[in-house]
Amino acid sequence: MSMTYYIHVYGCQMNVHDSEIISGILELEGFSSTEDPESADVILLVSCAVREHAETRVLGRLSQLGGWWRGRKSGKPLMVLCGCVAQEHGDGLLKRFRDLDLVVGPDCYRDLPGLIRGSARISVVDFREGDYTGIEPVRVEFPRAYVTIMRGCDNFCSYCIVPYVRGRERSRKSDVILSEVAALSEGGYGEITLLGQNVNSYHDEKISFPLLLRRVASAAGTSWIRFVTSHPKDLGRETVEVMASEKNICRYLHLPFQSGSDVILKKMNRGYTVQEYLERIEVLREAMPDIVLSTDVIAGFPGESEEDFQKTADLLEKVRFDNAFLFKYSERSGTTACGLEDSVPEEERLARLNHLQELQRMITIEKSGELLGRTLRILITGPAKKPRQQAGRTEGNRIVILDDTDFCPGSFLNVKITRADGWTHFGEPCGNMES
Ligand code: SF4
Repeated sequence: MSMTYYIHVYGCQMNVHDSEIISGILELEGFSSTEDPESADVILLVSCAVREHAETRVLGRLSQLGGWWRGRKSGKPLMVLCGCVAQEHGDGLLKRFRDLDLVVGPDCYRDLPGLIRGSARISVVDFREGDYTGIEPVRVEFPRAYVTIMRGCDNFCSYCIVPYVRGRERSRKSDVILSEVAALSEGGYGEITLLGQNVNSYHDEKISFPLLLRRVASAAGTSWIRFVTSHPKDLGRETVEVMASEKNICRYLHLPFQSGSDVILKKMNRGYTVQEYLERIEVLREAMPDIVLSTDVIAGFPGESEEDFQKTADLLEKVRFDNAFLFKYSERSGTTACGLEDSVPEEERLARLNHLQELQRMITIEKSGELLGRTLRILITGPAKKPRQQAGRTEGNRIVILDDTDFCPGSFLNVKITRADGWTHFGEPCGNMES
């Protein structure tokens, strides 16, 4: 009888896609997935270490699992921790959590079937050169698909643990990426997102990111293309030109600015100034006046003065991002920011975060309100939370909810926006595009 596995993902799209790859590896070896943790032979957690909060959640879940399985009719499942927290702590987790059986880092998932069938309690966290080419991911988000174009990062932003847990930057072969994109488009995936920690520094011999993007757009037919994450220091005019000239590349960009103060950006080792960041925004908006922009910001970085913080709030107001992911600084052990003198008390960090959240909430409401009465094209992604509702995404990645519709996931249609609630919008199908 084949073994069943249950997989739970923490963190970003990169981790969601890693879990699809893990499923692909396991199913190739005869494992089958289950949605029911009660009956699963194997429980896998795919963990995220980027923020302290995410890591704490995973470790909390591991503690709970230790008590939980004792009430299970089917006895103890094999418990596996994958992902960045696995890579970060390795062996130490086996000592700390006695019910945990395997700790497997992001480069070692091909070993999973053998490790699961073996009897050793072991941690496997080597950095390896190869990628997961040849593995067919078990995709869980139809009609949205992810294609990894690169793994790892060389930037060493001073607060970030990624280069330590995901290793150095490695780009995948462009011909493999293009054939994966073409197959997804033929398979009816309406949206394909290229993934990498810093997609703009993609390189496969003479093929840099703008050229890859142009070729991907052509291989994708009518499917929408997105890419994440872009680093401001590496986002060049050529990429913007490709975005503006290819119809199926979404007019949407996530461009983290992190701080509005040059002093803090330098301490963060981000490699650009506020002025340079604003120049990128200008180029983007000149080429695509309707582009939807989102960003990441860290409040309360070590040494951030009231004046530095005010500059961050000013930048949010100046650019008026459509959406922003705002975080308070959390220390990640082993990063260089840990050694910086930290003059910002925790309550002040929280107050700064709250201030930014309120500011952005108002901007998001204003910008969403500007869409009322407009007709936008959306991709139907599937059922919404309430019965008889469907959800879709605009090119700008906004969520749109429709009542009483039964369009197939993967279909594109025009909708008139009738109501907005922050980043979520409500609409009704209509024929023609207008604005
Ligand atoms: S670019 Fe900076 S923040 Fe992004 S993954 Fe690399 S080190 Fe981390």
